[in-house]
Amino acid sequence: SAKRQDHYHFATYDDAMQQDILEKLTLRAELQRAVENGQLHLVYQPVVDLEEGRIRGVEALVRWNHPQRGVLSPTVFIPIAEDSGLIVEIGRFVQKTACKQLSLWNRIRGDKAMTMNVNLSVRELLEPSLVAQVRGVIEDSGIDPSQLTLEVTETHVMAQVDLVSERLHQLRDLGIKLAIDDFGTGYSSLSYLEHLPVDALKIDKSFTDHLLKEETPVTLKTILRLGQELNLKIVAEGIERSSQAESLLALGCVYGQGYHFARPLEAEAIDEMLRHDENGHPTRSMQETRFT
Ligand code: C2E
Ligand code: MG
Ligand code: MG
Ligand code: MG
Repeated sequence: SAKRQDHYHFATYDDAMQQDILEKLTLRAELQRAVENGQLHLVYQPVVDLEEGRIRGVEALVRWNHPQRGVLSPTVFIPIAEDSGLIVEIGRFVQKTACKQLSLWNRIRGDKAMTMNVNLSVRELLEPSLVAQVRGVIEDSGIDPSQLTLEVTETHVMAQVDLVSERLHQLRDLGIKLAIDDFGTGYSSLSYLEHLPVDALKIDKSFTDHLLKEETPVTLKTILRLGQELNLKIVAEGIERSSQAESLLALGCVYGQGYHFARPLEAEAIDEMLRHDENGHPTRSMQETRFT
């Protein structure tokens, strides 16, 4: 009967929900150990200047090398890490590793011109120890604070704008840069941008995608003009085709990231890129760096 089918339907729905909860609990317990056992590592996606396609910096992206499931995406485990509070420890690991890596790249290049972007979730941003922690990481690594950009997503900023704004000011006082990630997706008032200590906008991939289908959307043009007006560094995310890079450049967007240029890469692959990136920033040869 219809009633029985209904009952059956709800039963399976419940089952699926229980499965889901169980899976999350398992992952959460495993994630705790993953941090302790060194199963997390960072990959780095180049940020390039769209004119020359040359690497100017990288964004650090965390990966979990799960012993049974293989490499897990942060979209799977970052939400669990946020709910459980493990994100604070993970964030510490990410910041430390990224800045140490950058100091090695500074040595390869022989300058401090390269930039490092690190993602920050709102839970980390609200952690009272964050500012001291970032200061410590910068000091220990010896990087220039201006080389480090912390990325916060737009929706997170808007959720608690007063508290977040205070924290962002404290971070910026360290001499680091701040970027709004996934910009344009938040449906939020643009006026907050003028009042927050922000240095860069990362234009969400959905806008870059639009460039493949239509004439340049008005929203993208507006965002770019706004960013230029406020003197912000603008980085387009998710560039997969050269045509997108060309359109963005024509619209005045100077920087970009995406599979068209490079996927997130292991540190060693970035080493290689830097050793061969001679134009503009003369890098020391492999031979020389090996002996320093
Ligand atoms: P995000 O910061 O917006 O990073 C961009 C995401 O887009 C990355 O996914 C990157 O691999 C992917 N991507 C880059 N170029 C392309 C492209 O051309 N096409 C497509 N389809 N994708 C592209 P990923 O590494 O899976 O990271 C997902 C999100 O997880 C990040 O989004 C960020 O919000 C979060 N996340 C990653 N690492 C960390 C971390 O260390 N801490 C925190 N709190 N969040 C992190
Ligand atoms: Mg990001
Ligand atoms: Mg993004
Ligand atoms: Mg994102």
